[in-house]
Amino acid sequence: MPDRSDEAALSRRTFLKAAGTGLAAAALAGEAARQAGAQAAPPVTPPQTPDTRPIPLPALNAPTEQRRDPPPLPLPPARRLGVAVVGLGTLALNEIIPALGQSKYCKLAALVSGSPGKAAEVAAQHGIPTRSVYSYGTYDTIRDNPDVDFVYIVLPNSLHAEYTVRGAKAGKHVLCEKPMATSQAECRQMIDACRAAGRKLMIAYRIQYEPNNRYMRQLVQSRQYGPVKVVESVNGQNQGDPDQWRQKKALAGGGALPDVGLYCLNTTRFLLGEEPDEVLARAYSTPGDPRFREVEETVTWQMRFPSGVQSNNVTSYGFHEDRRYRVHAATGWFGMDPAYSYSGLQPMVSHAEGKVERRETPRLGEKNQFALEMDHMAECILQDRTPYTPGEEGLQDQRIMEAIYESARSGRPVKLPTVLTRDTFRGAEPGEG
Ligand code: NAD
Repeated sequence: MPDRSDEAALSRRTFLKAAGTGLAAAALAGEAARQAGAQAAPPVTPPQTPDTRPIPLPALNAPTEQRRDPPPLPLPPARRLGVAVVGLGTLALNEIIPALGQSKYCKLAALVSGSPGKAAEVAAQHGIPTRSVYSYGTYDTIRDNPDVDFVYIVLPNSLHAEYTVRGAKAGKHVLCEKPMATSQAECRQMIDACRAAGRKLMIAYRIQYEPNNRYMRQLVQSRQYGPVKVVESVNGQNQGDPDQWRQKKALAGGGALPDVGLYCLNTTRFLLGEEPDEVLARAYSTPGDPRFREVEETVTWQMRFPSGVQSNNVTSYGFHEDRRYRVHAATGWFGMDPAYSYSGLQPMVSHAEGKVERRETPRLGEKNQFALEMDHMAECILQDRTPYTPGEEGLQDQRIMEAIYESARSGRPVKLPTVLTRDTFRGAEPGEG
C-alpha cells in the first residue's frame, strides 16, 4: 500500500517557489514539524528569483471565449532533475526525449544503450557529455553521476525488472515503462529493490496524468450522469515484423494483452477507482500467422467490479488500429474515440435534455503525456511523495493479466482478491503538492 501520510504537505506553488532557492527541504521540514504539533519552524522566506508565476498579460478575447491559462514557468534548466533514458528505441527517441523539451522539472542528463554509434549520435544531438553515455555493461556506474536523479527504463518488457533493480542499487529513482514486468515475481522484486534502496518507483501510465482522461474520471467519480453500469474498451493494431521482440514470448511476456490491452485494463481501473474481483476471458490467434507463433493475437475479456459495474474489453495485434472507450452511466454516456493515442484524443459526452439528445465533444486542450508523467515523477522525488502510479499499480495489473490468461486457458471465470477501498494502489494525486 502506498504511503499517504505526506499527502497534506505543501501547496504546489509554495513548494516550487522554495525549490527555486533550494528551500524546499526546509519548507517540507517546517510543514512536517507544524503537522506534528512541534515548535513552529521559521517561516520560509519568499525567494526573489526564480518565480514560477506566469507574467500577467492583458486578456485578448471576450470572457465568453474559452479560457486558456498561461502555462506555469518551468524551473531554470540548472535546477531541473536529470533523467537517464535507458534503451534508445522507438518510444525513447520519438516520444520521451522530445517530450523533455516540454517538461517543467526534468531534463535529459544521460543515455544508456547497447549501440555505441547510436548513443554517440543521440548524445551529440542533445548535448550530452561522453561521460554520461553508458552501455548496458557500464550502467551500474551511473551511481557516480550526480547529474542523474532518475532512470527511465524503456527496454523490452522482460528487461524492466533487471534494469530497475540495478538502477535502484545504483541509488537512482526509477520510472519504468508499462507493462511493469512479465510476472508478479518480477514486479515484487522491483518494488522490494526500490524500497530497500529508499528510491521512488513509478510505472509510466501516461493516461492517468492526461487531462481529458482525468476529466472522464471526474465524470465517473462525481456521478454527474448517475452510477456507472458498464465500461467498454478497445485497443488494437496490426503488428508488422514477426521477428520483433514484441512477438517473442521471452522478451514481451505475452502478445496484445500486456502491450496494448493493458490500456483497457489500467484505464478502466483508473476511471472507476475500483478493482475487479472476477475476470472471464477468451484468446485467439490465427493459425499459421507467423506473428503469433509465440504470443497471442486477440484477447476479449470481461471484468466484474464489487459495485456491480461490468466491463467488456477487446485487444488485438491483428486488426486495423482502433483505440476507444465508452462509460455507460444511468443518465448519460461518455468516453473517448480515439483514446490511448499520444495525441488527438477526442472525448464525447451524450445525455438527454427534454426532447434534445445532447452530444458534446468537449476538449480540454492537448498536453504532452510523457512530459506530464515525468514531471509527476520529479514532483514525487522533490517532495518525497509516493507516485500516483507506483510499483503496486503495475503489480495489480500484472495480477489481473495473469488471471485473464488463466481464464482464457481454462474457459472459466477466475476470481481475484476482493479490494473494497478506492484507489488502493495509487499514491499522491498528480499536481497536488
Ligand atoms: P523498441 O523495440 O523500439 O526499443 C527497444 C530498445 O531496447 C531498442 O533500442 C533495443 O535496441 C533495446 N534492447 C535492449 N536489449 C534488447 C533485446 N534483448 N532485444 C530487443 N531490444 C533490446 O521498443 P519500444 O516501442 O521503444 O518499447 C520499449 C518499451 O516501452 C516497452 O516496454 C513498451 O511496452 C513500452 N512502450 C510504451 C508506450 C507508451 O505509450 N507508454 C509506447 C510504446 C512502447
